[in-house]
Amino acid sequence: MIVLTEGFLWLIRFMIGACIFSFLNVVADRLPREESVVRGRSHCTVCGRTLGPLELIPCVSFLALRGKCKGCKTAIPKRCFLSECLGGAAFVCCGMKFGCGALGILSLGGAVVFCYIGILLVVALIDWDTQMIYDRFHILILLLGMASLWLFPQHGPVDRLIGALVIAVPMLLLTLLIPGAFGGGDIKLMAVSGWFLGCAPVICAMFFGILTGGTYAGVMLATKKLGGKDHFAFGPFLAAGLMIGAVWGDAIATWYLRFL
Ligand SMILES: [Zn+2]
Repeated sequence: MIVLTEGFLWLIRFMIGACIFSFLNVVADRLPREESVVRGRSHCTVCGRTLGPLELIPCVSFLALRGKCKGCKTAIPKRCFLSECLGGAAFVCCGMKFGCGALGILSLGGAVVFCYIGILLVVALIDWDTQMIYDRFHILILLLGMASLWLFPQHGPVDRLIGALVIAVPMLLLTLLIPGAFGGGDIKLMAVSGWFLGCAPVICAMFFGILTGGTYAGVMLATKKLGGKDHFAFGPFLAAGLMIGAVWGDAIATWYLRFL
């Protein structure tokens, strides 16, 4: 019985995360078009039909509808579904890693990390579409860093300041040497994230960012979908690395340092 209740609670937590990220997916869609993110009910962007309540259940509706609009049968973008799954998984990971707090949903520390992952999702989606990272997201992460200074005291102010510089400064120098190596938004993202995460996790994040971004570029070059001089948005890969760094950065750094 206890196992069942516990399992049900984790399912609820997953659905909360999926609902929030489902909304963030809409935010990422509408912000670049300067549409209101709160007004307007959810609708099919092709046939304009307003979605019914059963079509709005995160993850489940997409699978039940086999990824197609009920009215016009147009394919629903897979990234809606993937964002929802990521949100659910992020909420559960934050709960497991940082505790579920007094209310049994998510601790304050976990909520701050979950917010950070949510910002990263919006940054990644907008950067993928427009190759832009808005400064308002850098400011939000900076503010979350202030909160985490108090919530995660194991990373002191000095460690965070080093974190802000350790990746961003080499990126800046490289971009001064090779214009266009990194976008200004990417450099600022790594600076504020270093302040939020601390030194070791941001280094870990950069490692995963380069690994995933490099693999993507390699595949695109090999299949001739990108030319040698083409640019692609690096933000989504940095964001993916930063998500890993936010939850497991310290653990990975501790594990790695054992070998030195
Ligand atoms: Zn439709």
